[in-house]
Amino acid sequence: MSLKGRNAVVTGSTSGIGLAYAKALAAEGVNVLINGFGDKDAIEKERAGLESGFGVKAVYSPADMTKPAEIAGMIRQAQDALGSVDILINNAGVQHVSPVEDFPDEKWNQIIAINLSSAFHAIKAAVPGMKKSGWGRIISTASAHSLVASPFKSAYVSAKHGLAGLTKTVALEVATHKITVNCISPGYVWTPLVERQIPDTMKARNLTKEQVINDVLLTAQPTKEFVTPEQVAAIAVFLCSDAASQITGANISVDGGWTAA
Ligand code: NAD
Repeated sequence: MSLKGRNAVVTGSTSGIGLAYAKALAAEGVNVLINGFGDKDAIEKERAGLESGFGVKAVYSPADMTKPAEIAGMIRQAQDALGSVDILINNAGVQHVSPVEDFPDEKWNQIIAINLSSAFHAIKAAVPGMKKSGWGRIISTASAHSLVASPFKSAYVSAKHGLAGLTKTVALEVATHKITVNCISPGYVWTPLVERQIPDTMKARNLTKEQVINDVLLTAQPTKEFVTPEQVAAIAVFLCSDAASQITGANISVDGGWTAA
């Protein structure tokens, strides 16, 4: 069965991987609720572009993923505006890089809230509707850092390992309801999240931009190439298909071989 007419919520979809998920699902005829921060006009342009480009309905929620009540409100908004939430993609995420002894408490709390707890709150709000309709797909963007660590990323690595554990737990709980729950673990994807780390790393390590890209970032990635947002989104579309109905509780690496090492 095609995905046409299904309804999806994609958190953190005003840029990067999230926006690629929204576009790839819309291309399959899926109506989408997009979410995230950014310039108001730019977000409206993306929302309207999904409708005009793909002939689907697209709505926007400014819900802050650190706020459980706003997350529940976002799921309700999608149910009211689109009719249901059949597909939930937990994707919002932020990063902070610092030695553990200097790691600011508020950055720890923010990363755990956005990268891990928001997925719990969104899943909790969306599962009853999926159980009722007897079909659902829950996908979270984890990371190679859900499987292995890197120094100075204590909050991010902890949150992503947690997200992989949440994925497995919920997959078992809903397994008989035709709801699958999986996470996708990209290596380095060229998005604003990665671009923003480059100036600080250049300063901290006294390197050029090219050195940061090749000797710091891509050093972990055996293919020496960045993953593209579209490649990650294509996996999500596949996970939503009938062909993937027996894939649940999985953590799918898209990391150029990073975690094979
Ligand atoms: P990005 O910065 O381009 O996108 C992040 C999105 O999250 C944006 O839409 C932003 O507005 C939104 N966001 C941030 N804080 C929010 C909040 N409090 N409430 C709601 N939305 C919020 O980054 P990206 O690289 O596309 O990252 C998307 C996901 O992919 C993240 O979970 C990230 O950890 C994960 N990931 C990224 C990479 C990479 O190399 N880029 C690798 C592995 C995993």
